[in-house]
Amino acid sequence: MARGDGKLTHDLNPAEQGPQDACGVFGVWAPGEEVAKLTYFGLYALQHRGQEAAGIAVSDGTSILVYKDLGLVSQVFDEATLATLRGQIAVGHNRYSTTGSSTWENSQPAFRTTKTGTGVALAHNGNLVNTAELAEQLRGERSRGAQPVATTDSDLLTELLAAHPDVSLEEAAMRALPTFRGAFSLVFMDEHTLYAARDPQGVRPLALGRLERGWVVTSETAALDIVGASFVREIEPGELLAIDEDGLRSQRFANPDPKNCVFEYVYLARPDSILAGRSVHSSRVEIGRRLAREHPVEADLVMPTPESGTPAAIGYAEESGIPYGMGLVKNAYVGRTFIQPSQTIRQLGIRLKLNPLRDVIRGKRLVVVDDSIVRGNTQRQVVRMLREAGAVEVHVRISSPPVKWPCFYGIDFASRAELIASGLDVEGIRASIGADSLGYLSQEGMIAATEQPKSRLCLACFDGSYPIPLPQMIGKHVLEGIERGVSEPAREPIAENR
Ligand code: SF4
Repeated sequence: MARGDGKLTHDLNPAEQGPQDACGVFGVWAPGEEVAKLTYFGLYALQHRGQEAAGIAVSDGTSILVYKDLGLVSQVFDEATLATLRGQIAVGHNRYSTTGSSTWENSQPAFRTTKTGTGVALAHNGNLVNTAELAEQLRGERSRGAQPVATTDSDLLTELLAAHPDVSLEEAAMRALPTFRGAFSLVFMDEHTLYAARDPQGVRPLALGRLERGWVVTSETAALDIVGASFVREIEPGELLAIDEDGLRSQRFANPDPKNCVFEYVYLARPDSILAGRSVHSSRVEIGRRLAREHPVEADLVMPTPESGTPAAIGYAEESGIPYGMGLVKNAYVGRTFIQPSQTIRQLGIRLKLNPLRDVIRGKRLVVVDDSIVRGNTQRQVVRMLREAGAVEVHVRISSPPVKWPCFYGIDFASRAELIASGLDVEGIRASIGADSLGYLSQEGMIAATEQPKSRLCLACFDGSYPIPLPQMIGKHVLEGIERGVSEPAREPIAENR
């Protein structure tokens, strides 16, 4: 998996990575409240969606201040920093890079000034598929005085929004949003107004919440609970929402054609989030029940690969009547580290992350439930580790169908050639990971567990049917080389923290 050139954080072993989340976005409009702190806690709740960089932009009504850096939310912000971010509107972002490298410049919120001197700060979850086309459009705008340099699709969006000097940001957004193709759940702002917009397919989630004295927009509803906001509704696909002292204004910039990412239900979203009215945890437990019906096996213990496999393992155990237990303990904080691991440490691979409970495993026939298989490296090592710990049989059950196609809408799986299921059938994968048996949930079973109609879901990584057409030349670094070196970066009123 291409992971950019991270300068601070390091994967202990990139080959062990499962699917990587896109990003988390969070916005607050709440005069009189500590909007930066609310955003901090919102981002904290969304940390699972991106761990490479974090940032918060605030407006006090006259200017916008942006603070961002590489690292986890807790590493980027402290009490003193948050105290300097005063205002009534805030936009926050957790980044995992799906376009552009993992550098400070590419972290978000992205910021631009318009020709009239007002600011635009933007946080983006998703991935555009027409960046090359938009970059061309920007060249046209540049000739009319727009600011240069964009190295991510999110940066490009910000520039395009700021490129209309003679209209309000709201009007600029209504002009620009219909030209964006791909997945975009956006939270952005100028000095006075918070905006939220979601692509016509609504690929990535985006929800609206109510504070006692204000509004919140978030990637996932779980973050609403954490900041004490109540859920109001999802931002509709194709909707632009504006929030300011005049209240809420909703406009449609495109007809909705919902294709929600099914992988949010399987793996990406927090279990305590609600997607399209369906509890993610309930979906995963139901997935496990269906998995037990589709792929039963005689065994002594059902256990998850922690932690994403846990609800499905509970469902499998309930349905099969086989006892549920924990056979692996996750070393929760070792996944991303600021210490560059040596080759010797890298070779420890999965052992750095998972530790077997030998007393639980020894002499048992195990059902091991995991959310997906990308390259197969993790599962191969888990099976070997469990056998070494004394398991007599290891039956692997996967709570999604085989991932055969890459995602172009914000999830970094791997290239097609790297996906084990694009080259091997189920028996071939079973042999490759060394399991006694292997069972994947059917596509029908997965869809049924979400309680969404198939027509409203994106299933492209499973069936190759991409709901948003892809241009021929597309990839993570599509903007690099097109945009770099065109001219000097624009000066931004940013509190740098490099
Ligand atoms: S391709 Fe897969 S991961 Fe990507 S949006 Fe579609 S369902 Fe989600």
